[in-house]
Amino acid sequence: MSNNFNKYYDKGFIDFEGNFLSTVSLIAAIISFIGLILNYFNDFPTVLIIIPLVALIFYLTIYIISKKRKNKSIQKWILSVGTLIILNLLWFHNYGYRGPAPYFFAIIYGVLIYVWHEKELQLVTGIIIINVLIIFYLDLYYPHITEEYADRQHKVIDIYSGVFFYIGLSFLVIFRAKNSYINEYKKAKNAEMLKTAFLANMSHEIRTPLNAIVGFSNLLAESDLPLNKRFEYKELVEENNSYLLQLISDILDISKIESQQLIINKKAVNLNVLITNIYNSIVISQKKKFNPDIKFSLNLLPDDFTITTDETCVNQIITNLVDNAFKFTDKGEINIKLSISENNVVIEVSDTGIGIKEENIEKVFERFYRIDNNVSKNRDNSLYRGTGLGLYLSRKLAALLEGNLWAISKRGEGSVFFLTLPLKDYQLLLPKKSKKKSNSNKELMTKFAHLKIMVVEDDQFNQIYFIELFKRFKINITIAKSGEEAVEILNNNCDFDLIFLDIKLPGIDGFEVLSHIKSVDCKSLIVAQTANAMEGDERNCLNAGFDKYISKPIKKAIIQKVLEDYIKP
Ligand code: ADP
Repeated sequence: MSNNFNKYYDKGFIDFEGNFLSTVSLIAAIISFIGLILNYFNDFPTVLIIIPLVALIFYLTIYIISKKRKNKSIQKWILSVGTLIILNLLWFHNYGYRGPAPYFFAIIYGVLIYVWHEKELQLVTGIIIINVLIIFYLDLYYPHITEEYADRQHKVIDIYSGVFFYIGLSFLVIFRAKNSYINEYKKAKNAEMLKTAFLANMSHEIRTPLNAIVGFSNLLAESDLPLNKRFEYKELVEENNSYLLQLISDILDISKIESQQLIINKKAVNLNVLITNIYNSIVISQKKKFNPDIKFSLNLLPDDFTITTDETCVNQIITNLVDNAFKFTDKGEINIKLSISENNVVIEVSDTGIGIKEENIEKVFERFYRIDNNVSKNRDNSLYRGTGLGLYLSRKLAALLEGNLWAISKRGEGSVFFLTLPLKDYQLLLPKKSKKKSNSNKELMTKFAHLKIMVVEDDQFNQIYFIELFKRFKINITIAKSGEEAVEILNNNCDFDLIFLDIKLPGIDGFEVLSHIKSVDCKSLIVAQTANAMEGDERNCLNAGFDKYISKPIKKAIIQKVLEDYIKP
């Protein structure tokens, strides 16, 4: 807990003490200024005018520097040590125990408690105690090293103006601390409430598709189920499956963004191609439930071009916008339009759906925000299923790509969502010659049938799945149930064309099996397959020497692509 706190504290996420630095230095500057004026008009010795003047300059400098977030720790040390030097000078020239200086040590210590934290606070406490003991000793045994007041009147004015300083300083610091604590408390309470609402929402959102998956999977096992029903149920299982995956991946992405761990991978991206792919995959996935009353269209730019951006993020944002457009549109048109304006590429996703009330347009980009969409009573409610995370995540991603995401909408008439991306490293592409038609399906299947494949997988359900999946390509695979078994098989026979290797295995893991494969000089193509689809996993696997990386759930199309790439001449 303490380690975690320090981690966040150091990163500046929690900067409670840091925030006090500017307040304390400003208050100290104001007090120095008042002291300077009082001393000047009371005809105090010049040195008692110079000390508050130096203090004023010193605290104003700290105040200005403290506005910058850098090197807070050094600034705090300068403030503390500088203050002690000023206090000691004040004690010496402001009549030692006879004047107000000793009490300043007490009140200044109260201020430093707000500025310091843990071990450093203990150190500062120690320094102040030693300092006070020294001046106490000097005042006790050498009372004449400090002077006497010129007269009683000066003393009274000085002591009582000191008292007002103590009161002012205590009030400002304690008042500021109180407000700060109240704000932090409110924020924590709010976060707690959001978390509770989130958990309740998630529990519902996860159970709903799970229930459908479990229920329809059980129904699929009934032997007298007609074929058309089987297909229908299979589709429903798949649909709920992808919804569940989307949900999990949104939650992971949000937690990565919020802990500043999402890595942006920029490269040249052809937006015409990217948007066409999204369009095609949506048309395919929506085919069955496609409402004939909706026209789905694309407006691309006439020439192909690339910009430097993160393909996965852009894909995620546009897919989310188009998914929403389908969710909230009953009839009319959904359109994706690509255009260029000034220094930006603009991607517009427009629909003629239910629209959003003007006062809610900005709110839809907030976390977990979902409008009560119960406007169309005869509409299937499940079509409005959602977590309220999509647009929040999309806007965060757009910002990470140095772009913007916003919307215009009219209730009952439709919405237009705009995504802008900077036109950095824009490059026009020359038209490509049309590629030769790829191998026919039959030819491919014949080639696949000759492949020798081993799958290393410890989970028995996944083993059955892989056996069934490869049967679709007429391939009988060899299964190794553990890393040890894989090593044993490979010691006897190393002539596999491809090895699909799970990374997380009990006993020796995928990376160790990989180094064994390399050490026995197998020529197989080694594919990492893992359920850890986190950013960085793919890079780790490829760096370790895997030829390819695929993440679970592994669909037929993914395996087909790996096999096709392998047999390509
Ligand atoms: P959800 O998963 O609920 O769709 P989003 O963050 O993507 O989460 O959207 C938040 C809310 O914004 C939705 O619940 C919906 O009320 C509203 N919304 C988003 N897109 C549209 C749209 N195209 N038309 C009307 N309302 C929309």
